Amino acid sequence: MIPPSFDYHAPSTVAEAVGLLAQLGDDAKILAGGHSLLPMMKLRFAEPGALIDLNRIDALRGVSEEGGKIRIGAMTTENQLIASDLLKTRVPLLPEAARQIADPQVRNRGTIGGDIAHGDPANDHPAIAMALDATFVITGPNGERQVPATEFFLGTYYTAIEADEILTAILVQPFAPKTGYAYTKLKRKTGDWATAAAAVVMTMDGDRVASVRIGLTNVAPTALRASDAEQSLVGKTLDAATLDEVARLVRGVAEPAADLRGDEEYKTAMAGEMTKRALRQAAERCR
Ligand SMILES: Cc1cc2nc3c(=O)[nH]c(=O)nc-3n(C[C@H](O)[C@H](O)[C@H](O)COP(=O)(O)OP(=O)(O)OC[C@H]3O[C@@H](n4cnc5c(N)ncnc54)[C@H](O)[C@@H]3O)c2cc1C
Repeated sequence: MIPPSFDYHAPSTVAEAVGLLAQLGDDAKILAGGHSLLPMMKLRFAEPGALIDLNRIDALRGVSEEGGKIRIGAMTTENQLIASDLLKTRVPLLPEAARQIADPQVRNRGTIGGDIAHGDPANDHPAIAMALDATFVITGPNGERQVPATEFFLGTYYTAIEADEILTAILVQPFAPKTGYAYTKLKRKTGDWATAAAAVVMTMDGDRVASVRIGLTNVAPTALRASDAEQSLVGKTLDAATLDEVARLVRGVAEPAADLRGDEEYKTAMAGEMTKRALRQAAERCR
């Protein structure tokens, strides 16, 4: 319950925050919503000597349309995603999936950027970002660079963000008309992390799959993109044999850790089942 002592910094621009990171080095940590970092500090799993709070940097909040893409500031909270009319019409997977994350109080603080930067395979945004084919904007001392979601998650709590960089925005292509989507999350109770979950974004040509992206949550050391399963679907109708083959391919890439949510066999089976359910729901929405 009692975190160790630390210095507190509250910059008002990204440049100032990046400068503080460079100056303070490895001892400093970014503070976003604080709903993963503070619980870890209270248990003394993390003991940073300084926190750099991003909450006063207005440029990091909000959803806008820029150059044909939807840009979501890293400090946008889950509840702001849920309330965003732009997302509801252009990227409806995000507000729908955000409702399945944590609880109302946590969603008032927790940010999409923090959920992604934390690098926890149990978090929901990493796999959702993979299904959206999102790109992450990262800012450091040498300016901005962009990393696709599929290349960002390197291990458990390990991402492509360097120690002197900040995740500043998430870029997503708006959905074309009749794009189907779903986030199917198996959990023990409201506010729990997934036992297994699948994010799907797809389009159909008649009753055949034209394009599909599948992201998997909490069934491996990082979120996964189920590329083989995606390839097996293109040009197919969603009949029982096709869905069984998809589930088999998903089970093949799952390597979950056994814990109180279940053993490897159960979680692996649930990864296949959640993917089937997400595909059926997404296909309904392509009409
Ligand atoms: C009871 C409870 C239930 C939860 N359930 C879920 C759930 O079901 N699904 C889910 O996905 N999450 C869940 N969470 C986690 C929650 O969504 C967190 O808010 C989220 O994981 C981290 O976001 P944050 O903004 O709070 O980040 P913080 O806790 O402030 O930061 C997390 C980490 O990311 C780093 N960081 C944050 N922002 C940036 C940035 N912009 N650039 C670089 N580094 C950054 C920090 O330095 C820190 O290491 C739950 C949390 C609680 C307390």
